Amino acid sequence: MSSSFSFDIQHRDSDTLARTGHLHTAHGSVRTPAFVGVATRATIKALEPQALMDLGLQIVISNTYHLHLQPGEDIVAGLGGLHGFSGWNRPTMTDSGGFQVFSLGASKEHGVGKVASIFPGDATAPAKPKLRPAKPLVGLTEKGVDFRSVIDGSPHTFTPESVITIERKLGADIILPLDECTSPLHDHAYTKRSMERTHRWAQRGLTAFQLLKDDATFPNLHQALYGIVQGGAYEDLRLESARVIGNMAFDGIAVGGSLGCSKTDMWHVLDWTIPLLQDGQPRHLLGIGEIEDLFMCSARGIDTFDCAAPTRLARNGSVFLKGAPRHRINLRNAQYIRDDGPIDPHCDCFTCQNHSRAYLRHLCRAGEFSFYRLATLHNLRFLVRLMADIREAIDDSRLTGLARDWGFNL
Ligand SMILES: [Zn+2]
Repeated sequence: MSSSFSFDIQHRDSDTLARTGHLHTAHGSVRTPAFVGVATRATIKALEPQALMDLGLQIVISNTYHLHLQPGEDIVAGLGGLHGFSGWNRPTMTDSGGFQVFSLGASKEHGVGKVASIFPGDATAPAKPKLRPAKPLVGLTEKGVDFRSVIDGSPHTFTPESVITIERKLGADIILPLDECTSPLHDHAYTKRSMERTHRWAQRGLTAFQLLKDDATFPNLHQALYGIVQGGAYEDLRLESARVIGNMAFDGIAVGGSLGCSKTDMWHVLDWTIPLLQDGQPRHLLGIGEIEDLFMCSARGIDTFDCAAPTRLARNGSVFLKGAPRHRINLRNAQYIRDDGPIDPHCDCFTCQNHSRAYLRHLCRAGEFSFYRLATLHNLRFLVRLMADIREAIDDSRLTGLARDWGFNL
């Protein structure tokens, strides 16, 4: 659809569905599989764009909901779109904002926070309900969704058409249409109705996108639009959604929504969905990207992932280290008080080259801003290097062996 957007597959792993490839966009190429950094408000928390480029991050995803509320898409468009506005000149994505709109509704409705609700039955997921003080629920109709701003309570409406216009103004290279993100606690009947509406919205979003395709008043004329497969953790619905969305004229496919109550449920959703998708299209997994996921989902044929957890963990003192429990250590722990070694002796990041665990622990416990930056630098560089290792393993058809080396059975 877009003249400068394309995806090519370079190599396929012999034992799994993993593949390496290149996503080509108007702002450069992304080697896949790739981790997509979460720059919700046009920045990754605690790091400026130049630092992200220096550590090798290839692509970021920003959030339509938050940028619509602040500073507003017209401000961003007037300053050259997300690329001109932020100074990040590499590929970008924006999500539709549907997840934010509906996760607020779900958190009120079911008493689970939007993070915890991804896998509410998973013993390893944070279980503490995080009720938001926001006054209202969302108002959902066939036309779209009414909601109130989390910033000031002001009323807003998203329709499939208005979200495409907002995203055209933001100007990311890859954009997503409005979808309803159901909670894992919604039943089959509700999830089915919601999915069918999301399919109608997908077609409306696609039509709006095609109408605006050649409008040179938008900052990026070469955007790609991905469709979103929904259907909760229900096999029949996921199969139907994969067929319906997969047959529309999207440039790629994102797997979204509730992926069930555990990681096992998520593997099932991918096992059902991926074989039905067009092989040559790029596939994105929304909101998933723990270390285990990077292996398990690459092996199932996912090309890109985004997840806020690695940077959120960093700000909480939890930094990646291969071989530690869950491949991370918490610098708040007393055992690091006199530890003069780096977080990871094998890491080439600025933090590991220059600072000790003892110093970082001090900054963390003192609540110094520099800690957020240094810890985030390490976790992102760690993932950039891990994804490079995963791509190399796929190219050599030894992904299963690399996963085993990290303690995961594909
Ligand atoms: Zn490091």
